[in-house]
Amino acid sequence: MSRAAHADYFAPPPEPEGGAKVLVGLSRAELEAELAALGEPAFRARQLWHWIYHRGATDFERMTSLSKAFRARLGESFVVGRPEVAAAQASVDGTAKWLLRFADGQEVESVHIPEADRGTLCVSSQVGCTLTCRFCHTGTQRLVRNLGPAEIVGQVMLARDRLGEWPAPAEGRQITNLVMMGMGEPLYNYDNVARALQIVMDGEGISISKRRITLSTAGVVPAMRRCGAELGVNLAVSLHAVTDELRDQIVPLNRKYPLRELLAACRDYPGVHNARRITFEYIMLKGVNDSPAEARELVRLLQGIPAKTNLIPFNPWPGAPFEPSSATAIERFARILNEAGLSAPVRTPRGQDIMAACGQLKSASLRRPKREPESELSAL
Ligand code: SAH
Repeated sequence: MSRAAHADYFAPPPEPEGGAKVLVGLSRAELEAELAALGEPAFRARQLWHWIYHRGATDFERMTSLSKAFRARLGESFVVGRPEVAAAQASVDGTAKWLLRFADGQEVESVHIPEADRGTLCVSSQVGCTLTCRFCHTGTQRLVRNLGPAEIVGQVMLARDRLGEWPAPAEGRQITNLVMMGMGEPLYNYDNVARALQIVMDGEGISISKRRITLSTAGVVPAMRRCGAELGVNLAVSLHAVTDELRDQIVPLNRKYPLRELLAACRDYPGVHNARRITFEYIMLKGVNDSPAEARELVRLLQGIPAKTNLIPFNPWPGAPFEPSSATAIERFARILNEAGLSAPVRTPRGQDIMAACGQLKSASLRRPKREPESELSAL
């Protein structure tokens, strides 16, 4: 399926007719247009934007700089919008995971990872995933659908609600960084992800800078350039193998965009230079991709690309067909990269006890086949 057909087929559901329209997820221009339709001038949209994205208000009545009459009219046609929290879990290491439910009942997970000098929110872009990477739990779940901008931004807003960060303090914020590394392949849902990130980066609102946002892809080559040129966010590439033969097996997207094309797109990634390197994620799978020869080949492949690598010990999940590499194998692998001048930190898994670590996210949602009538489904 082409990327455009994919985006169509898996599109988020339209808003129900006659219901209140959700404001979160609208661009500034769209918000202005909604208010213009009510006869309100553009500066009202700026005020509203401030209440929604800087103050985190969800109740129009709290927006006291707006006239009473205007607040009442807003309440008649709109809601600000938040996903529902279906479950919340806290890890012994401080990591938090939220299972969020959207209006159509579909669910995704987001994860907050506090560290000494930063706090990272890991955001999902799709319900499930179509890529079927062999080591990834989300990949065992059939893709249900893409998330819309409201559902992507909504994850950040909900986390801010839960962490009590409206407005965000100047110092000691709990969400300083955002990674598009949750469920799904963000570059297979590029348009919605881009719209959401534009809102997240807006300086008069959530205001997370592009330098603190990293989008992770398994290598959707044709969308990489746009991502760099239009959004300018940091790129992470889930590499995981140094030969097409192995990568074809464990990251099946490689059959479509093989290593040579992927690495060429990395070399050409707009804005990449030594101070803004591409992160290559490399999962350490025992006896599969963790030999010294593979480390040396990785060094060769990355030559000429401003790169750093993250070595991720495999996070197990029930029924997974792999085991994590031994600590010795990981150290040996890292040493070869380091000796070649490549930064290669080993990622400490976070939130493993609540299945919140990389590759462990999965929701119970199932795709409803498009053409199957409602009545047949309910008979199941
Ligand atoms: N589809 C995107 C975004 C998902 S990011 C991508 O592939 O990059 C999730 C990261 O966790 C990816 O690097 C993925 O390869 C990695 N990952 C998946 N399963 C994992 C597991 N079981 N243990 C460790 N890392 C895993």
